[in-house]
Amino acid sequence: MDVIALVQRFGKPDMFITMTYNPTWPEIKEHLWTTDETQNRPDLISRVFRAKVEELKTDISKRNIFGKIVAFMYTIEFQKRGLSHAHFLIILDNEYKLLTSESYDGITSAELPETYLDKKLRSLVLKHIMHGPCGNLNPTNSCMKKNDLCKFNYPKSFAEQITKGRDSYPIYKRRNTREVVKVWEQYLDNSWVVPYNSFLLGKFNCHMNVKVFSDIKVSPPEAAWRLFGFSISEMYPSIYYLQLHLRGQQFISFKGNTDINTIVNNPMIKKTMLTEFFQMNRIRPSILEKEAKEVFFERTITVSEEDILLHKKLNTKQLKAYNVIIDQVFSKKPGAFFIDDPGGTGKTFLYRALLETARSKGYIALATATSGVVASILPGGRTAHSRFKYLYTLMKISAATSANKVQLQV
Ligand SMILES: [Zn+2]
Repeated sequence: MDVIALVQRFGKPDMFITMTYNPTWPEIKEHLWTTDETQNRPDLISRVFRAKVEELKTDISKRNIFGKIVAFMYTIEFQKRGLSHAHFLIILDNEYKLLTSESYDGITSAELPETYLDKKLRSLVLKHIMHGPCGNLNPTNSCMKKNDLCKFNYPKSFAEQITKGRDSYPIYKRRNTREVVKVWEQYLDNSWVVPYNSFLLGKFNCHMNVKVFSDIKVSPPEAAWRLFGFSISEMYPSIYYLQLHLRGQQFISFKGNTDINTIVNNPMIKKTMLTEFFQMNRIRPSILEKEAKEVFFERTITVSEEDILLHKKLNTKQLKAYNVIIDQVFSKKPGAFFIDDPGGTGKTFLYRALLETARSKGYIALATATSGVVASILPGGRTAHSRFKYLYTLMKISAATSANKVQLQV
């Protein structure tokens, strides 16, 4: 996802570099006790590899060994055998883009260095850079696919010149010099050389694969897509990365001339997306739990056998009100009704019939009254202030008036 964001903003990547940890690095060897074995010192391995990654990062981003860059990212992978890798992706500034085949030449090579030119570099290529062997020479090598072919397509074909390939990778210059070198008991030639950068290989003394992208041309459909400003990617549900920090160690920003007390006493400055995420998680489950409990309670109110038949016993006036209210409820329209009649004329009877009808159809019907006495005679009844959590101040009102105020909510 991060790569997509970078590519969207800065364009296609120009180079990929893979650096693999080397257990024979002198920095590791010289810090081992005589009784130590490298594989038993993950602390040492991690620190040295991290230092190498940091150095490579500085070479790329600060020392600009490939020219000015506009973006880079790296990820570290850990293999089961313990050989860690760092994968770097680099996007160069427009001025430094690799526009011609010739421009790749100074950056990557896929040939054995000639002995008389650089003995040290040649020994490093033999030690770290040769692929495999695989195929007929070693059919069980880890790169072999089920169809007996190498997944990285080694050995590669010879080529007199570097040219643009059909995909995004160039065909590197690999001349057939007829020269072979003995590596892992096999004789290998230029067709087995993994693309490398002489400077980085000499400096880092480890397997370091440097690939360049040859196809930086933009096709007409892509040009049109970008001109229209259409989005290159989208994800649902969207994912947002939270910036992590330890407790009390969040980054804060403030203007240089702000009084320190104002900053320290500002409660908002301590809040980050991460602290608010934790806060939300503290509150949210309890709210959900409570809501679930209440819904469960309302759904499991038992309708008595007597109440099931109530709507058949309504008198004319009760039935008229019943029909109007029930029609409104089942047509899913909001509505408010006020039933007014002297005490003892069967209003509670009507309410019970309404509650029964709604609940028997799977609806949740909340029965509330302003007084606990009235609430208690309604099935599942509760006082309104308890149900809706509003403040209710008792005033001097007659019991009869209070008892008449019944609310039904479906
Ligand atoms: Zn292979």
